[in-house]
Amino acid sequence: MFALLAISGSQGWSLTKNTALVVLVLLWLATAYWTFKDARRRIADPWLIGVATMVGLVPPFLGPVIYMFFRPPEYLQDARERELEIKAMEERIAQLDQRCPVCRARVEPTYLVCPVCTTRLKQACVSCGQPLESLWQVCPHCATPVTPALPLLEDLTTRERERAPRTKAGD
Ligand SMILES: [Zn+2]
Ligand SMILES: [Zn+2]
Repeated sequence: MFALLAISGSQGWSLTKNTALVVLVLLWLATAYWTFKDARRRIADPWLIGVATMVGLVPPFLGPVIYMFFRPPEYLQDARERELEIKAMEERIAQLDQRCPVCRARVEPTYLVCPVCTTRLKQACVSCGQPLESLWQVCPHCATPVTPALPLLEDLTTRERERAPRTKAGD
């Protein structure tokens, strides 16, 4: 009777021991998986992610703590967003700091002509007189279509060529 109790007792003990072991292993794998997931969000290099995951696995439970000491302080996505923000800010500053292409004098975006060297910077809208950017097809202030006031050099030469035979024919 005592022997039976002892056997069943030892069996129960081994069952709890096994259950505890399984839970411990699951917990160990879960912490290692957490390390892998966290590393993937913070590290771009797949080799370093592998190393971080190995540290997360061995030593068990202590590994993730060691990893937390050495992991990059921010997520890759946050770093990317910050870089984009800095780039946008630089572009805004560059737009504020516009300069004349000829004499490098500082000019405002509203200037039509450089006040220092009188270089033509922008075309004015024929309807409302607002300065127009070179790529604009229509005036954003009054919706008047933009017609190039100054014909390009190529256009001038082709017109000359077209005009030349006509004068000859007239003669
Ligand atoms: Zn100038
Ligand atoms: Zn206009």
